Amino acid sequence: MKVLKFGGTSVGSPERMKKLLDIIDPSERQIVVLSAVSGTTNNLVEIGQAYLAGDKAKAAVLIKALKDKYEIFIKKLYAKSEYLEQGREVIDYHFGLLTNLSKDLFTNIEEKVVLAQGELISTTLYHVYLKEIGLPSVLLPALDFMKIDEDNEPIVDYITEHITPLLDAHPDINLFITQGYICRNSFGEIDNLRRGGSDYTASLIGAAIRSEEVQIWTDIDGMHNNDPRIVKGTTPIAQLSFDEAAELAYFGAKILHPQSVFPAQKYKIPVRLLNTMDPKAAGTLITNESEKDKIKSIAAKDGIIAIKVQSSRMLLAYGFLRRLFEVFERYKTSIDMITTSEVAVSLTIDDTTHLAEIEKELGAFGTVDIDRDLTIICVVGDFGAEKHGYAARVLDALKHIPIRMISYGGSENNLSVLINTSDKTEALRSLHNRLF
Ligand code: ASP
Ligand code: MG
Repeated sequence: MKVLKFGGTSVGSPERMKKLLDIIDPSERQIVVLSAVSGTTNNLVEIGQAYLAGDKAKAAVLIKALKDKYEIFIKKLYAKSEYLEQGREVIDYHFGLLTNLSKDLFTNIEEKVVLAQGELISTTLYHVYLKEIGLPSVLLPALDFMKIDEDNEPIVDYITEHITPLLDAHPDINLFITQGYICRNSFGEIDNLRRGGSDYTASLIGAAIRSEEVQIWTDIDGMHNNDPRIVKGTTPIAQLSFDEAAELAYFGAKILHPQSVFPAQKYKIPVRLLNTMDPKAAGTLITNESEKDKIKSIAAKDGIIAIKVQSSRMLLAYGFLRRLFEVFERYKTSIDMITTSEVAVSLTIDDTTHLAEIEKELGAFGTVDIDRDLTIICVVGDFGAEKHGYAARVLDALKHIPIRMISYGGSENNLSVLINTSDKTEALRSLHNRLF
């Protein structure tokens, strides 16, 4: 059984929604995971923020504006008045719920209820559409089987246990629809898998049902070997290993939610990235295999801050790095890159929420320097320890650009350099010309 996930733009208009059936083959048993209609989750974020700020009037305006969009949406989606009526009931229900949230205390718990409405609406409207055209399908409520634990980690066994009976209850149905992104947390409350989390849902369901393949349908023909917004002539990567895909997803290639690689990797479920606008294109296949001896792709991540701590106390001392890292742990700030010398450590973060506190605490260890507006350029490929020449080629392509940090050998798949964001375009182009 395959799992197919369609992102926000793939369900972004009534026309697009109808066109999903060009891709979905109703003669095969499958689970279709849908995102919210594009733009909706952003609107829901705004509604939640207005409520949290106590600005009920603003929330009401935003809710009305979003509801108006759906009024138009359903008029184009359904042909028969009976189904238009059902569609209207769906949006009345969900927008009524959003409006009613103004009556009580609004906390982060209610905020997550707000965020969940986008996927609940898109899947229900699509399910009604399938009914209108007479295609049998079952809507699986993700809130009945998607579960995260107290550390926000999804529980694959729980998902298996709870989705299997739902599937078994309908042996004669081929098409199952469900919501991406949303789940329940350890308290049983409505929660989510973070922005872009529908990919993660698809991968988790794929793992939970030991799917033959997970397909992530977006609006680009797979992962490209460089950023197509910046470099001309990028090409899709035909094949990637899970490790390579994880590095790329994390360092820039916005096409895949980084965590979504891991469940598929653990249960060896192939993941295919495909293009709704060009369904025949080969896309990118992610499996356990890696094409050997090859630089696969270049990605960039902006908004990076480098922190350097210089201390003579580090010399010949042990426990220094642990104490240093504990500062970041206390402020729940994750570190991307690190380099060390005998008397200094440099590391990077991208979350500046607690930078001031972190800087202050690090001051106890030595002199702290902070550099901003940096970009990590990440070159991904198969660079085993026995390989040679790759680092030289990368650095040669960057020889005219000032480099702040280099990280190599952290994994066999990644060589990262930290540069000024103002040099990013030149770095990506130069690497592209020299490496591909
Ligand atoms: N709708 C959610 C978001 O916009 C999840 C997703 O689309 O993957 O982040
Ligand atoms: Mg996405």
